[in-house]
Amino acid sequence: MTHPAHTPASLPATRSKTTFPAAGASGRARRARVEPMAVRPLRDGRYAVETEGGTYVVDLDANTCTCPDHQLRGARCKHRRRVALEVTAELVPPPGKRTAVCAVCGGRTFVPTAFDGPALCRRHDHRPGTLVRDRETGDRLIVVAATGERADRVETATGRLVADYPTNADYGAHEPVFRAVYLDSLGRDGDVNRYAFPASRLRRVEGRANGDAGPPRTDGTAPPTTV
Ligand SMILES: [Zn+2]
Ligand SMILES: [Zn+2]
Repeated sequence: MTHPAHTPASLPATRSKTTFPAAGASGRARRARVEPMAVRPLRDGRYAVETEGGTYVVDLDANTCTCPDHQLRGARCKHRRRVALEVTAELVPPPGKRTAVCAVCGGRTFVPTAFDGPALCRRHDHRPGTLVRDRETGDRLIVVAATGERADRVETATGRLVADYPTNADYGAHEPVFRAVYLDSLGRDGDVNRYAFPASRLRRVEGRANGDAGPPRTDGTAPPTTV
């Protein structure tokens, strides 16, 4: 028996019906997996589930479905189970989130429904405290903040837009800006300056900041007090 493949890369308004492998499940859990259904997130955080037998609306937060199995028997029906499966598999956004496109790679990602800034996928996002390398200079920095704003909207201390710097010409003006401090500056006395970078100019350094000269990884909130 074959199963139609999921197509998470594209999310047209109408999705074709898909199935999951049975995975040894039985009863409603099995039907939730093997019956062809198409799950579509609605604007209000609920999900429309299109089946061969009709379309029903699932509310995960309220644990409800409009199908007879839930309405008449109060069952945890196959539609609710299917939505839960698709959320877990990241095929549809969880309640409170919506699908967005990563500003760096164009890949699909989920952001809070109300968020209207530029989005990043997990691979291209930088969490505060992350050790990164500047692609232009090779310098190592620690990310200290995400501005959530585009490079053509964020000004540096000199009043210039991040996107207008010639060294940022190769990075998208639509990318969100991150603030970071130079790793070498953390071990010195005096103020630690924060600098602004478009997201893809910073490349995550895998592994730990150990070995050579630099101080140990910090959370970026305070420089070490001793050298
Ligand atoms: Zn149902
Ligand atoms: Zn990405």
